[in-house]
Amino acid sequence: MTVLFCFTACQFAGGGGKAESYKSKVEAPSRENAKPPSSKPMEQEESQENKPASLVDSAVQSPLPQGFVDVKQAVPGVLVEARYATTYNFVGEPIRGYCGNTLWLTREAAQALYFANEKAMEQGYCLKVLDGYRPQRAVDHFVAWAKDVTDTKMKQEFYPNVEKSNLFQEGYIATRSGHSRGSTVDVTLVQLASGQEVDMGSPFDYFDPISHALRTQGLTEEQIKNRGLLREWMTQAGFRPLSTEWWHFTLEDEPFPNTYFDVPMGAE
Ligand SMILES: [Zn+2]
Repeated sequence: MTVLFCFTACQFAGGGGKAESYKSKVEAPSRENAKPPSSKPMEQEESQENKPASLVDSAVQSPLPQGFVDVKQAVPGVLVEARYATTYNFVGEPIRGYCGNTLWLTREAAQALYFANEKAMEQGYCLKVLDGYRPQRAVDHFVAWAKDVTDTKMKQEFYPNVEKSNLFQEGYIATRSGHSRGSTVDVTLVQLASGQEVDMGSPFDYFDPISHALRTQGLTEEQIKNRGLLREWMTQAGFRPLSTEWWHFTLEDEPFPNTYFDVPMGAE
């Protein structure tokens, strides 16, 4: 990988976190116009805490589409746990389009994430990213899974109070996701001192009203405070929260607001 960009204070000064606009020069990414693949993935030291055993970092990645970066390389200090590359997600199997413990974001979203992480680190926390860019084929995988109402392998852990047949009408699964535009992240907080995720009152991807971002009913003061801290730092960095999921944030000024990408992160 060539040098992606250098995060310096000057990049954030006066530019609202945007180094430059890609809107005028972006083309639909393809294998032909994508950047050359990384010759050697640059691994970051990261906590092994809470990391599913099935995550591997050695898988061969696809070339990054223009305007996208690898989160681990571009945002040092942020933890990455690509849940959809593992069996530990609501489907119970690795999701199409994911490749090892890799997440991509647009450059602008990664810059904003860096800013949010700086805020978190000042207070003794860091961010852990659980999902970022999501290829359309991964969304299609979710939809195909949702239509098979007999497959309820992960129901107890992720949607114990929702009938699988209602996942569409209750809004938990949709045929398109903002994640496919590359500037949306699912993220939680890790306490630096302990290396542990903080208690948010419900797990990531727990399909239930208890996951609503501003929920207070059934939550402790600490859980409400933890959600508030995450929301404060992410919104200060330029992300917009989602009312129904405490972990989900979209960059306000996203560079590809109308493009749903389908570039897989690894060979299929
Ligand atoms: Zn999300």
